[in-house]
Amino acid sequence: MKFLADRMLGRLAKELRMLGYDTLYYRGEDTYPLIQLAREEGRVILTRNNKLVPKRIEDHIIRILEDKPSLQVGELIQKRVISWNEKILFSRCLLCNHLLHEIQRAEVEGKVPDFVFYQQKEFFRCPQCLRIYWQGSHLENMQKKVEKIFQFKIQNER
Ligand SMILES: [Zn+2]
Repeated sequence: MKFLADRMLGRLAKELRMLGYDTLYYRGEDTYPLIQLAREEGRVILTRNNKLVPKRIEDHIIRILEDKPSLQVGELIQKRVISWNEKILFSRCLLCNHLLHEIQRAEVEGKVPDFVFYQQKEFFRCPQCLRIYWQGSHLENMQKKVEKIFQFKIQNER
């Protein structure tokens, strides 16, 4: 499932990428290009706008009811729109949604802090923005956030 988050849902877009879901973030105010893009790419629109309604059979729109950004990803888990999938977890760049590529350790020397270079074995790079990711920092922080998100889910299902 691929998503297109509207301008109200920037944090949700980032968190969906963290979980590995292909998610574009649309910053514009006009809804027409938003719907067009979703149709062209077969994306599910995520919005807080209650005036945005499907006009064609192929339009899929999910309205996020939760006001707090920190709880919005939990809402999608509860609605069973998304689920835990370790295979895709942390596979995308948080900034541009691109799939990360594993790169040779030698390639990152001088591009990351020395202690990181010596501690870490695996590095990943976004082919678009060239940001480098590694297990110890970025991914570990993300892991904590993801665990929090899923704890929220468990608490709410009891
Ligand atoms: Zn990137």
